[in-house]
Amino acid sequence: MENVIILGTGCAGLTAAIYTARANLKPLIIEGSQPGGQLTTTSEVENFPGFPEGIDGFMLMQQVRDQAKRFGTRFTNDIIESVDFSGEFKILNSSNATYKARTVIIATGASPRLLGVPGEQEMFGGKGVTTCATCDGAFYRDMDVVVVGGGDSACEEALFLTRFCSKVTLIHRRDELRASKIMAERTIAHEKIEILWDNGVEEVLADADGRCRAIRTKNLKTGQPEETPCKGVFIAIGHIPNTGFLDGQLPLDDLGYIVPETDSMVRTKIPGVYTAGDCADHVYRQAITAAGMGCQSAIEVERWLAEQE
Ligand code: NAP
Repeated sequence: MENVIILGTGCAGLTAAIYTARANLKPLIIEGSQPGGQLTTTSEVENFPGFPEGIDGFMLMQQVRDQAKRFGTRFTNDIIESVDFSGEFKILNSSNATYKARTVIIATGASPRLLGVPGEQEMFGGKGVTTCATCDGAFYRDMDVVVVGGGDSACEEALFLTRFCSKVTLIHRRDELRASKIMAERTIAHEKIEILWDNGVEEVLADADGRCRAIRTKNLKTGQPEETPCKGVFIAIGHIPNTGFLDGQLPLDDLGYIVPETDSMVRTKIPGVYTAGDCADHVYRQAITAAGMGCQSAIEVERWLAEQE
């Protein structure tokens, strides 16, 4: 029987681990399919306090992980497929193990949203369609690529890709970027980035080898079709919370985000079950806010366990 099981090793989960480990609760973290969370695929993190020169996302998460480990956090690699929160103890099931805990912190984050257009799945991974410039950008050296999206992620991906690629076309469905002012200005001003405004993606087009050769879009105001030749398509259109495994055990909103109790950001309707980070927050979605929620959930766990004794 565990005192506390934490699902997820992004900023939220690892911060919860640091706090619960320092409280001597010997947390067990179950790492999902992306250890370190979304920040591991970010290039430069410029807005995490304490790093005036910025820090590489992977390095930052490595350090937070080391910090959690230093205080006795235990890590195991598994994918939780279902949970049962109906009894006194919380049950978590993977395909080959069952875990039992007095408290659970759900910090499973969110996964990249896809476009759902023809060609996307067929070329996903090695054939030209990807959601991670940090991971795949270097494969597109001296090539023309496309980024889809208009938020901070899309701008960040586009700016990062200018390091390698000859030209980056940013395709956005509106005539104004959603990104923060500083990111939008940098993106618009960059000489290697061209922006295709008001365009919706219709299809990713393949060459004879099944690799990406172009993207077909349509101007949503005029109906004018466009074909932009490119070797790579980087999709950066937001995320979907990783909460499917909860299957009705906790209230979710229409988009699948965990809905906490009204008087708390992290307490759920099940006593002893808490949440933190991007699986419960579609408003702020920052590394620092996820870390803050991780801290809050850990303190809640500590207090709840103390109350039970
Ligand atoms: P986001 O802010 O939700 O932006 C998603 C973008 O994708 C929007 O421009 C949206 O268009 C577009 N989009 C959504 N669905 C689409 C579809 N089906 N087809 C075409 N376009 C679609 O997501 P994000 O950029 O991933 O950012 C998420 C959060 O992380 C934000 O709070 C952001 O500030 C933060 N973030 C911060 C940094 C940083 O500070 N360094 C870096 C990355 C992310 P509309 O604008 O028309 O809705």
